[in-house]
Amino acid sequence: MTRYGMLIDTTTCVGCYECENACAIKWGNPTSDVPKLSASRNTAVATVNDVNVPHLCMHCADPTCASVCPVGAFSKTPEGPVVYNADKCIGCRYCMQACPFDIPKYEWSSTNPKVAKCNLCSERITRGQKPACVEVCPAEARIFGTIDDLILLAQKKIQDNPVQYINHIYGVKEAGGTSVLFLSGRSFEEIGLKAGLPDHPLPTLTWQVLSHIPNYVFWGSTMLAGIWWITNRRKEVAAYERALRKLDRRSPNNGSQHSN
Ligand code: SF4
Ligand code: SF4
Ligand code: SF4
Repeated sequence: MTRYGMLIDTTTCVGCYECENACAIKWGNPTSDVPKLSASRNTAVATVNDVNVPHLCMHCADPTCASVCPVGAFSKTPEGPVVYNADKCIGCRYCMQACPFDIPKYEWSSTNPKVAKCNLCSERITRGQKPACVEVCPAEARIFGTIDDLILLAQKKIQDNPVQYINHIYGVKEAGGTSVLFLSGRSFEEIGLKAGLPDHPLPTLTWQVLSHIPNYVFWGSTMLAGIWWITNRRKEVAAYERALRKLDRRSPNNGSQHSN
C-alpha cells in the first residue's frame, strides 16, 4: 500500500494562514488569531525566530497515541493518516500524555468532551484529493505526496540549495519516522520543533516503562474506571438536559408557544 504524507518547507512559508482557514472550514471550526493548536484548531502557523512554522499531527509511522489508547480510538490507516474515532473514546487522555509531539487537544469546555487533532484529510486522500491545507497553500510550503517521493524531493531541495537549508529532513527518523516531514534553514530546535527525540518508535518505550511499574495496572485501571464513569455521567446529564429542553418546548405552558 502506498503511504502518503506532507512535506513542510518552512523556508517558503509566507505566513498567510490560508492553510489554517481551510482546515477550520473543513472541521466547521471558528478562525482564531492564537497561533496554537487547540480543540478547535487542528493546524496552526507559529512564527518562531522570524520563521513561519506550520504545526499539525505528525502522523507517526508507529503512533504512540494509538498504542496507549485502551479502547482503540486511534488507528493508523494503510494510506498513512493516523485517525481518531470519537465514538470509541472514553476521555482518559492517555494519548495527550503519550504523544511525543504534544499534538492531541481536549475539549475541556464541552459537556461531552472529545480529543481533537488533524487527520491528514484522510477522507480526501481516499477520494484522490490533496489535504485541504495543501490545496490552498500559495507558496508550496505544504506539499502532498507519497513518503518516498517527498523524501526524494526534500533531498533534492537540500542538494540544490545547501545555503537555504540545513542538511536534515525532520521526521525521517524522529520518533521512528513520521508522515509529516519538515525542511528548515535553521536548527529545528530554533524554530520550535521537538529536539532530542529517539530514532525508534516511542510505543515500545512506553510499554516497557509502564510494564515495569507494578502499580500501573491497578492504578491505571482504577483511574480508567473513574474516568469512564465521569465521561458517561456527563453524557447522561447532557442527554437528560436535551430531553428536558425538548419537553419544555412542547409544553403548552411554554411562553414562546403563546407569544402569537
Ligand atoms: S504526533 Fe502524536 S497524535 Fe499524531 S500520530 Fe504521532 S503520537 Fe499520535
Ligand atoms: S491535513 Fe486536513 S486536517 Fe490536517 S491540517 Fe491539513 S486541512 Fe487540517
Ligand atoms: S498556506 Fe502555505 S504559505 Fe500560507 S501560512 Fe500556510 S503553509 Fe504558510
